[in-house]
Amino acid sequence: MQGDVMEQQLDRSKPFDQQIPMDQQIPMDLQIPMDLPIPIDQQIPLDLPIPIGQQVPIGKQIPMPSQISTSPTTPVEESVAIIGFGAAGVNALIALRCAGYQGKIRIFSNTRIPPYSPIMTSYYVGGTKSWEECFPWGAEELDSLKAEIHYDCPVLELSPEAHIIRTSRGDFSYSKCVIATGATPVLSGFPSTDDYKPLVLRTMDDAERLKLAITRPGCRRVLISGASMVALKALEACLERSLETTLVGISPHVLDFNALPVAAIRFEKGLREKGVELRLGQTIKAVKTIGHEALRPSYSLEVTFSSGDTALYDEIIVAHGVKGNLEFVAKSTLEIDHALLVDEFMRTSDPDVYAAGDVVQATELVSGDKRIVGIWKNAAVQGACAGKAIAAEMAGTTIPSDAEFRGSISANTIAVKGTLFISAGIMEITSQRHREVYEDENMTVVSVFENRADGSRRLVGFNIVCDEDEAGSVAYDTGAMLTLRIENTA
Ligand SMILES: Cc1cc2nc3c(=O)[nH]c(=O)nc-3n(C[C@H](O)[C@H](O)[C@H](O)COP(=O)(O)OP(=O)(O)OC[C@H]3O[C@@H](n4cnc5c(N)ncnc54)[C@H](O)[C@@H]3O)c2cc1C
Repeated sequence: MQGDVMEQQLDRSKPFDQQIPMDQQIPMDLQIPMDLPIPIDQQIPLDLPIPIGQQVPIGKQIPMPSQISTSPTTPVEESVAIIGFGAAGVNALIALRCAGYQGKIRIFSNTRIPPYSPIMTSYYVGGTKSWEECFPWGAEELDSLKAEIHYDCPVLELSPEAHIIRTSRGDFSYSKCVIATGATPVLSGFPSTDDYKPLVLRTMDDAERLKLAITRPGCRRVLISGASMVALKALEACLERSLETTLVGISPHVLDFNALPVAAIRFEKGLREKGVELRLGQTIKAVKTIGHEALRPSYSLEVTFSSGDTALYDEIIVAHGVKGNLEFVAKSTLEIDHALLVDEFMRTSDPDVYAAGDVVQATELVSGDKRIVGIWKNAAVQGACAGKAIAAEMAGTTIPSDAEFRGSISANTIAVKGTLFISAGIMEITSQRHREVYEDENMTVVSVFENRADGSRRLVGFNIVCDEDEAGSVAYDTGAMLTLRIENTA
């Protein structure tokens, strides 16, 4: 019955998130609208102390549980727990309700704000999207899912054997649990400094800090360390703010995990034309603060590079990769490689603990290996698979075949002030793989083919670099077509 009500309340006619490339969008039947208007002045200040056991008033539109449990619950209570409230967590919740599960669902989130999209953070920093546009789910939709949401309640420990989740507000039992805690930027390789904490980009808190830092009076020169997608998104935000930008990266080319040199070189040309200084094949060796943070705007940073050069900057953004948020999982309790290992229904090595999103290694279609594919669509689909499978298990029925996660391929799109890069699949060249390059005055397309035992070949990855980012252009159509081709032959 409750499941039926849920079905009616979800408005499936609206686009989910127009920033996500077509091939990364969530299936229509899982979509809910993006219309959460939470003005910044209605947000709770981030440093407000929260009395233990009290709800956090996040703003009048945020759904809160009618009562937050402050005492340990009995282990016999039937309930589903979802740890982390991002793309994977929200989609697990939606799928549970859509599949008819009417029992208790507890969500544990370590933030005070509703689920947001990390994809939107750079646009917020750059000033092209508002705070409200970073929240894909409306308060009404979240409310209609009838979950007990524990905001600002990080999970401190998970005990799979006892079926207990430990938080600072007490212990909670669960029958089934989904780990959907995403990832956190790492600062590895950044030299330690006495008093400067570099900027990173993942959460809305990160975005707010970054935005305040680069829009402060006196901030003119920004150094971005790292040459990955997140680094380039941060770079784009700085260009939107008309800042002088330098990108430093350890590899000889940008996008080294995603791009072959011939594609990266064209992309780098586009960046240089936008005034970006590239320091490739270098790292930051030392950072010295001149003045003090308290003396802003007069403070600046003297950076020494591995080349021996020194230069002055006003802020540094570090994008050196991420690590899964799994501190609350004891290594001996669940099988972990680089991330949690899961089966086709997103079950970890404990049959009552599922996991989804950036925190798992699941099947990557081209290689057939279990890999982390850290993209939004993956997190959403995996969360939905976990939700459907748990709903069936809670109902005592067989897990339906549509709860099976069949695997995914990596896919990325980025446009930096007009220079467009689209990539999907695997770009590693091996003895069984070769590349083919097509180039004209607007576009470079690099395709990687793999030889099959029967003498045929299959497409396993591609890069497209285009000097003009024009929505609906040939580049996007070509990208969508090649992505499908990789998926269909994997
Ligand atoms: C700047 C940027 C740009 C991106 N651009 C794209 C893009 O263009 N396309 C694309 O497909 N992907 C993109 N991504 C990646 C995409 O955002 C992620 O793959 C996706 O958000 C993963 O979803 P998730 O639910 O696994 O994790 P998250 O969205 O990170 O959600 C996890 C949640 O769990 C919370 N949490 C962590 N620990 C705990 C705990 N102990 N207790 C309770 N809660 C906890 C976290 O705070 C977070 O709110 C981008 C990422 C970044 C940072």
